[in-house]
Amino acid sequence: MNSKSEICFAAEPTLGKLSKWLRILGFDTSYEPGFSAKKGMDLGRKKRILLTRTERVRNGKVSQEFIFITSNNPFEQLRQVIDTLGIGYTDTRPFSRCIRCNTRIRPVDKDSVQGNVPDFIWQTCDIFQTCGRCRRIYWPGSHTQRSHDIIMRLFDPNEKR
Ligand SMILES: [Zn+2]
Repeated sequence: MNSKSEICFAAEPTLGKLSKWLRILGFDTSYEPGFSAKKGMDLGRKKRILLTRTERVRNGKVSQEFIFITSNNPFEQLRQVIDTLGIGYTDTRPFSRCIRCNTRIRPVDKDSVQGNVPDFIWQTCDIFQTCGRCRRIYWPGSHTQRSHDIIMRLFDPNEKR
């Protein structure tokens, strides 16, 4: 098992889009809209790398490992995280995690989602996955294709840095 794929993150409330992208890549990313850098974060049992835009965190004495995010652009933020940690495409597990609640999603029987997804989706797709926590259902759709293109661009060595 590759250790980089096991990296866990905790993101500040201002980094919602970045969190979503890290989840799309398969990384365990806790994102609490109520989190305050002042109070510190309940990191749970896992060791998480804090993603912050708070100057006080950068300048203060924080014992925890963190990355100070410099860009306003979510794609550039994602690239900063990837570059800082040396994460490669093989470290990622795209579309393996619920974007809404960070839970690993699991394949489910096609019949079990009938009536819970739009009819035309059910008729045209054969692969469905579901989140055991929030029950959101995932299938390979246009959104996934667009996300896939962005991921390819992220790890393209010919892209300008
Ligand atoms: Zn979920």
